[in-house]
Amino acid sequence: MRRTVGVLVMEHVAVGLVEGHKVLGSPGIFPQKKESLDPLQSMPAEGIVDCIRGQVEKIAGGEKIEAVGIGFPGIIRDGVVEDSPNFQQAKGFALQAALSVALGGKLAGAQVRVFNDADVMAAGIAATQGKLNKLTRVWTLGNGIGFGRYPSSEGIWEGGHSVVTLDPKENFCGCGGRGHLEGILGRRSMRMRFLDLEPEEVFENARSGDARCTEFLMLCHRALAAATATNIHMEGPGTFFITGPDVKFIDLALLDRLLHEMVKMSPLQGSRFELIPTSDEMGIIGAAVNANRAVQH
Ligand SMILES: [Zn+2]
Repeated sequence: MRRTVGVLVMEHVAVGLVEGHKVLGSPGIFPQKKESLDPLQSMPAEGIVDCIRGQVEKIAGGEKIEAVGIGFPGIIRDGVVEDSPNFQQAKGFALQAALSVALGGKLAGAQVRVFNDADVMAAGIAATQGKLNKLTRVWTLGNGIGFGRYPSSEGIWEGGHSVVTLDPKENFCGCGGRGHLEGILGRRSMRMRFLDLEPEEVFENARSGDARCTEFLMLCHRALAAATATNIHMEGPGTFFITGPDVKFIDLALLDRLLHEMVKMSPLQGSRFELIPTSDEMGIIGAAVNANRAVQH
């Protein structure tokens, strides 16, 4: 069976050996301990490559590997990180070429392919749910808001930067654009909006009736419903998965209700949301699935 390594770079680097849509053994994680600040934020792009190389070598255990698939946040084209608001040091970086050159020994010659991180989550969900023949869409909630799609298709698909409000004061998005979904629902923008509260406290306070936090909770759900509704109006209805570290903030019943207020045409009915607990393995599998497809085609 083909042995492929899957790599997911989101809040941390997770690397695993994939065979037949399963991760063999436990994934390698960097950094091993959860730190309060994101250690990858301050790491130069070359350092991230070095860290991926180290984990790939460890996971491969001296064996030959056919392909390495990487999920990385941002706009990825032809193996280059064209832009990445949450990893600004990687803007313009030729990640695919840099890792290909860095791999030596038995790993030399392994095919490296880079994809958007949310796209690999969509591929992982499709593979593990036996839905590789269907359109799978996913929102990933974390510092950034990702929109992933399987099968991946030509285009940019930066759904996290969908404009969901015309309020000119909404300018917290990491990309600098006004009115974006990520500027509301992204963890980093929540911290900028509530300088005195952590995102967890904001949602706790909302549950206990604090007016400012309740209003914000509603804004978050309306924003995610709006971006989803826009996608439905462009691509049609279906299941939208939601995953990532901040999926805990989502009230599915509220989100469903708001979406149905926004989508009324009868051929567009029937969409639903499904929460999927965040897991590195899902992204690792998806990165491997996408890499194998890319190498074989
Ligand atoms: Zn943005």
